[in-house]
Amino acid sequence: MIVTLARDADPARVQAALVAAGLWVERLADDDGRVSFATLPHSATVDRRALLAIDGVAAVAAPASAHPRIDAQGPVVRVGDVAVGGGAPVLMAGPCSVESERHVLEAAARLAPLGVRFLRGGAYKPRTSPYAFQGVGAPGLEWLRRAADAHGLKVVTELLAPEDAEPVAAHADLVQIGSRHMHATPLLRAAGRTGRPVLLKRGMAATIEEWLCAAETCLLAGASGVILCERGIRGFDPETRNVLDLGAVALLAHARRLPVVVDPSHAAGRRDLIPALGRAAIAAGAAGLLVETHDDPGRALSDGPQALSHETLAALAAELRRSHA
Ligand code: PEP
Ligand code: MN
Repeated sequence: MIVTLARDADPARVQAALVAAGLWVERLADDDGRVSFATLPHSATVDRRALLAIDGVAAVAAPASAHPRIDAQGPVVRVGDVAVGGGAPVLMAGPCSVESERHVLEAAARLAPLGVRFLRGGAYKPRTSPYAFQGVGAPGLEWLRRAADAHGLKVVTELLAPEDAEPVAAHADLVQIGSRHMHATPLLRAAGRTGRPVLLKRGMAATIEEWLCAAETCLLAGASGVILCERGIRGFDPETRNVLDLGAVALLAHARRLPVVVDPSHAAGRRDLIPALGRAAIAAGAAGLLVETHDDPGRALSDGPQALSHETLAALAAELRRSHA
């Protein structure tokens, strides 16, 4: 932003007020006797009107944002009767892949009593290797819906191809866009056109600005809201599958005031780290967690090493509940 002072203003006093508001400023060359300050990128997010109210400030010019809709969305997205953001952490859990009807039904029965609100599971799977399990496809959507309905849960599942948007939206309460597809504009548009809220995973090498532009694409196409999902970005050390970017979570939650859910499963790639990362994510401002669980991780069709047992998730869920009571 550029803050221009009135001709008779005392620059030192205005600068002190800007700094007190959390801004880092740089004085620009005086133009025709008028002083201006540019705010620097690491400044706090301060409403333009609050700056105009400072004695001695004549004008505040804000650059146009590339993503005005997501900027204005606010910190809460409603998915039916569940509010994501602004309250107790929302848990989304279930297997990486939908494996069979019985399997998701049993998962839903075990997860619902833990306070989990969303049943997750991919019917269509975006796998790194084309030889890995690719998902059960369309029948998995029906199985998820029936399992969730039987236990009062919502469904979150991934949309992989624009031509599947209608069936996915017909069965899901929240349409997931996976990390590998955050840049796939036709897919983002197709998800948005369904009118459903979207859970938008961060591309594994995407900047926050790119991520927000992807969210904007969904909203522009008609999505009723976008919940961001941090799932780890690509690092250099394979000991953790990815690097969980909690700085991005804090920035989105506290500076941008947007709902961001953290997926510690894909971030860590190993189940022993997930409770610690889950706690850290909530402390950083996450609105909830998306966690992979499995009753028999050794036999999971995908991502077994990072699947939490239902018992470990129960302990984490109870802990989060206690700390938000
Ligand atoms: C998933 O959540 O099922 C998934 C494939 O995750 P990501 O897109 O983050 O890799
Ligand atoms: Mn997975």
